[in-house]
Amino acid sequence: MLISRDEWEDAFNGIYRGGVEFGMPMKNHTSLAIGGPADVLVSPEDPMSLKNIVLMCRRKNVPFLPLGGGSNILVRDSGIDGVVINFKAFRMIQVIREEGDDVELFVEAGVPLQMLVNFCRDKGYAGIEGLTGIPGTVGGAICGNAGSYGCEIKDVILSAVIMSADGRLDRFAAGDLQFGYRRSAVKPTDVVLNANIRLHKDDTNAVAGRTREFMAEKKNTQPISERSAGCVFKNVEGVSAGKLIDEAGCKGMKAGGIEVSSVHANFFVNKGGGTASDYLHLMHKVVLMVGRKFGVVLEPEIKVIGRG
Ligand SMILES: Cc1cc2nc3c(=O)[nH]c(=O)nc-3n(C[C@H](O)[C@H](O)[C@H](O)COP(=O)(O)OP(=O)(O)OC[C@H]3O[C@@H](n4cnc5c(N)ncnc54)[C@H](O)[C@@H]3O)c2cc1C
Repeated sequence: MLISRDEWEDAFNGIYRGGVEFGMPMKNHTSLAIGGPADVLVSPEDPMSLKNIVLMCRRKNVPFLPLGGGSNILVRDSGIDGVVINFKAFRMIQVIREEGDDVELFVEAGVPLQMLVNFCRDKGYAGIEGLTGIPGTVGGAICGNAGSYGCEIKDVILSAVIMSADGRLDRFAAGDLQFGYRRSAVKPTDVVLNANIRLHKDDTNAVAGRTREFMAEKKNTQPISERSAGCVFKNVEGVSAGKLIDEAGCKGMKAGGIEVSSVHANFFVNKGGGTASDYLHLMHKVVLMVGRKFGVVLEPEIKVIGRG
């Protein structure tokens, strides 16, 4: 444990507004329902409290982790050292400009991505229908350039405001965020606060129709009602990692409570009682089998976090 309740209270008394929980099991905050306790989980209510946390963590040499929806991370069973920051108070969506067909929105990092997709569907704003069905928050989506069906969040980002570890706020244009396949220039010590995104006005029924079609496709091809963290591994030079895993004969393989999904082989699902060590064990087995069959090394898409 890097920060105790007493140390927290000494350091943050009077400079922080928001929720604080000590020893909160991260399994309550991840889509896999896996993960040991975080020393401290905070839910700052305003940007100043958030800044004070970041600055105090730096001063005391305590690590912090910005947490979105927990839908792309595997938290180890031993938990997380330091401070986990929850963005549930940062959920504003605002229309900044609507001129002709052009639309610009201001979106805070804690907005659930599906709240944004639904907002755009209801208003007839086109451009992010392909992100339908991706869980998590706008902050998490920017960090990993979330995408599907040929659409990535980078396609609509104009700029993002990021706080660095020294508390400085900078607005970065999309071009400076170096988006790539499931990656961006956002560093683990950066905090994404908000973004401006550009969409275009379309017929509301047309946007709603595309959103519905993408959702139906997701339901057919992904185990979306089960506990997972989405794709475990990145595709290899355009070849689907799921196809490689399937053809290496891994579908249905298990380690403890974790199973390679029979619906989509690149999803590992927690069938109940699965642990991070089961998950890592299964990853290892799958990497070996795919390596043996195809001579390629699968790279994780999920982020493994926590005390090693
Ligand atoms: C059923 C299912 C389907 C999925 N389908 C897809 C898909 O089609 N395409 C796809 O790309 N992904 C998919 N995913 C994976 C996941 O939903 C996305 O990667 C999502 O964008 C992660 O967002 P999150 O808020 O949950 O991030 P988290 O998992 O909470 O965090 C991911 C990383 O982002 C960082 N982060 C989060 N918020 C911030 C912030 N405000 N500032 C700085 N850093 C931050 C975290 O520190 C962490 O390093 C799927 C997952 C599931 C469970």
